[in-house]
Amino acid sequence: MDFYQGKTVLVTGAAGFIGSHLCDALLANGAKVIGLDNFISGRADNIAHIKNHPNFTFIEADVNQGFSTLNSQLSTLDLVFHLASPASPPGYQAHPVETYLVNSYGTHLLLTYLKEKHPTARFLFASTSEIYGDPLEHPQKETYFGNVNPNGIRSMYDEAKRLGETVCGVFLRSFNMDTRIIRIFNTYGPRMDPNDGRSLVEFCVRMLKNEPITLYGDGKQTRSYCFVSDLVAGISLFMASPDCRGETVNLGNPQEQSMLDLVHMIEAQLGKKATLQYKEARADDPRRRQPDISKAKTLLNWVPQVKIEAGLKETLAYFASLG
Ligand code: NAD
Repeated sequence: MDFYQGKTVLVTGAAGFIGSHLCDALLANGAKVIGLDNFISGRADNIAHIKNHPNFTFIEADVNQGFSTLNSQLSTLDLVFHLASPASPPGYQAHPVETYLVNSYGTHLLLTYLKEKHPTARFLFASTSEIYGDPLEHPQKETYFGNVNPNGIRSMYDEAKRLGETVCGVFLRSFNMDTRIIRIFNTYGPRMDPNDGRSLVEFCVRMLKNEPITLYGDGKQTRSYCFVSDLVAGISLFMASPDCRGETVNLGNPQEQSMLDLVHMIEAQLGKKATLQYKEARADDPRRRQPDISKAKTLLNWVPQVKIEAGLKETLAYFASLG
């Protein structure tokens, strides 16, 4: 995509699953990429292949500590993708304070820094479908305000993402900055942490190890899974679009699967049967989750291309390669 050629781009959360794939795409499109991460949930392995790329530099730093000491490394900035945050429930529940800070105060610190030093830079905040909570509308459009428990076991993430969106809105309306919000729905693919704990990863890893799979409730709760290359294509189009200043857009794959369907697909790929064990449904676990992506289709002419069978094949191969 020509838009990125020669642009200087900061990616927070660069050593994470999505951030590392985004860095790959930006480098392929000719950008100069500054990756920043504190490795709270990311891994150096995810960026080992680009470490010595002439257009890639890496800063080990914590977004929550602010940016004044990084001035010399951030002297030019055209675009900022703020992806830093633990993303899986076990990950953010293990780091609740760091999670609510990086999405709320961290977003504030980054935008405050940009307002002072690079006021024309475009800023993209990685929000989440979790801001819809346990949705009462289905599928979820961007206009839906959500149904979130403000003091639930996921609220350090959900509510901090909601506050992060608020911060973006304030810097857009009060300080005339170009902020953009994506609400990412479940995304999967190579470089996910095998200890991520979310259902798709658990099912893949456990089936590869011939271990039993736990289904919560009746296993009929649904999710929709977007392959990471589709997500990165959507993110890249959204940032590049001249028409998306101040916009919020859902990015995800609307194809909905029940947990049981997913198990059956993995069984088919691996040619073996899963051993299932059922446990009580978890608190605040949404019954259904499916994006309405009509806005992304209209604004960006974007639709996910990768079928779940093909994405699962690549993901299973990645987990198998970890041994
Ligand atoms: P990830 O955990 O693999 O990556 C996040 C990265 O951010 C990690 O490398 C972590 O070390 C880094 N990080 C966290 N706090 C930081 C801080 N204070 N300073 C510097 N670095 C910090 O998660 P991911 O799946 O790649 O998610 C990336 C973004 O997308 C997150 O903001 C997440 O909330 C959002 N998101 C992801 C999904 C998904 O399905 N993966 C869904 C919705 C939203």
